Amino acid sequence: MNIEEHLNNIKSQLSEDVTLVAVSKTQPVEIIQKAYDAGQRIFGENKIQEMVEKQSQLPDDIEWHMIGHVQRNKVKYMAEFVHMIHGVESLKLLKEINKQAKKYDRIIACLLQIKIATEDTKFGMTEDEALSILRSDDYLKLNNVKLVGVMGMATFTNDKAQVEKEFKSLKQTFDLLKIKIKDSKAFEVISMGMSGDFKIALSCGSNMVRIGSSIFGSRN
Ligand SMILES: *Cc1c(COP(=O)(O)O)cnc(C)c1O
Repeated sequence: MNIEEHLNNIKSQLSEDVTLVAVSKTQPVEIIQKAYDAGQRIFGENKIQEMVEKQSQLPDDIEWHMIGHVQRNKVKYMAEFVHMIHGVESLKLLKEINKQAKKYDRIIACLLQIKIATEDTKFGMTEDEALSILRSDDYLKLNNVKLVGVMGMATFTNDKAQVEKEFKSLKQTFDLLKIKIKDSKAFEVISMGMSGDFKIALSCGSNMVRIGSSIFGSRN
C-alpha cells in the first residue's frame, strides 16, 4: 500500500481552502511517519492516551487534532500540545480545557460537536445547547480556549440524501452560530466528511475533512 499515492489522490479532490486531517488512529508511528514524509502535517486521533504516546515519538511540527470523545479527566494529558479539539459538547468540558490550557499559557482551538446523525451512539449537542454556551457568562470569561467552528458526523448509511440533509443542517448551524459568537472572525471551521462521505460534505460547505481509511487502508 502506497500512502503517498493515497494522500495525493485525496488531496487532488480537495480545493485549496479545505484542510485535510489524516486520521491516524490505530496506525503505528512508522506508518504515520510515512505520511509525514509525504508532506502531511495534520493528524487526527480519537484516544488521548494513544495521541500522547505518538506525539512523543514523532516530529514536533505535527499538528495533533483530537477528533474523538473527550473525557474531562484526560484533558490534562494533551493540553500542552494539542492543536485542535473537535469534540467539545459541553460547557463543562470547555471549562476544563480552558483550565488545562492556562497551565501552559496556551489558547486551544476548539470545535463544538453538533449531533446531526440519527444514531444514539454519536455524540454532540443540539444547536440550542451550542447557542446557550455562546450566551453564557461562564463562556465569555474563558480566555484560554477559542471556539473556531463546528464538527459533526453523519449517520452511517448508504442513503446519500440523508447524509446530505445532515451535512446541510450542520452548515446552517455553523452560519447561525457565526452570527452569535463574540469572536466571529475566528469562527471559520466546518469539520465534516470522512472517507465514505467527504465528497457530499464538501458539496455542503465543509472546509475540514477527517480521512483515515482512504489514506491508511482499513483498520482492524
Ligand atoms: C475514525 C474517524 C474518522 C475517519 O474515518 P474513515 O472512515 O477511516 O475516514 C473521522 N472522524 C472521526 C470522528 C473518526 O472517529
